[in-house]
Amino acid sequence: MFRRIIVFLLLTLLTQFGGVVYLINGYLFKKWNFLNRIFSFALLYTLSLLIIVPLLAKIVDRVPLPAHNSEYIGPANYMTIALGRNYVKSDLYELIINAAVKFGDKHPDAKITYLDAGFALSRYIPMYPHKSHNSGKSLDLAFIYKNEEGAIIHGSPSWTGYGIFTKEKLTKRQQKCLKENGLYDFTKYFGLGIGKGEYKLEGRLTQDLIKTIHREAKVNKIFIEPYLKASLGLSKFRKIKFQGCDAVRHDDHFHIEIE
Ligand SMILES: [Zn+2]
Repeated sequence: MFRRIIVFLLLTLLTQFGGVVYLINGYLFKKWNFLNRIFSFALLYTLSLLIIVPLLAKIVDRVPLPAHNSEYIGPANYMTIALGRNYVKSDLYELIINAAVKFGDKHPDAKITYLDAGFALSRYIPMYPHKSHNSGKSLDLAFIYKNEEGAIIHGSPSWTGYGIFTKEKLTKRQQKCLKENGLYDFTKYFGLGIGKGEYKLEGRLTQDLIKTIHREAKVNKIFIEPYLKASLGLSKFRKIKFQGCDAVRHDDHFHIEIE
């Protein structure tokens, strides 16, 4: 029983709907052996992910971001899709697609890479480790990167999308935040200690991407570390803010939020 509660909670926190699928699977196939139950769970989970969850999400005005890598936008990691963490409110969906087309038309080599968005169904289940992603009005994006030769590379330097920072050494403000909040840089573990090789920040295009999003009227907050805001030449942009010490550091990705 205890093991079942733990599995239910883990699946719920990771995927939101997975916990319910686990319960239904356990109830329907309680007489099956363990291996068969894993197989039926995988089947039910996939059916839910592909058909049932998108239909239910529509009722609460949530739309999945494109699952494949298109010309303009794509996920950093397909686990985001498999775990159903790519849902946003329809307003944010339209906004980000619009920004991606504008940005991609201007810079055909580059595109928007997204990380965690939100869950599909309920806003009452938190989406760890994020503080505000349960609303469906928040989205994390990767910076734009280039390789040693200066060519644009898609995606993120980290396999999970998080944990590989543009600067290793903490700034004074970050050190202060770490003292106040021991979890301030715990996303470093999300890098899994294995970067994808040479990803260098492409400052000019990252700046233009953030400016493109900033221009969208419905965007009301963009979170990024203050040292990056300054070094990217974005100091005068009022919607770009410091996320505060009680969140996690934002120099491996940036966060956008609509009203
Ligand atoms: Zn975020």
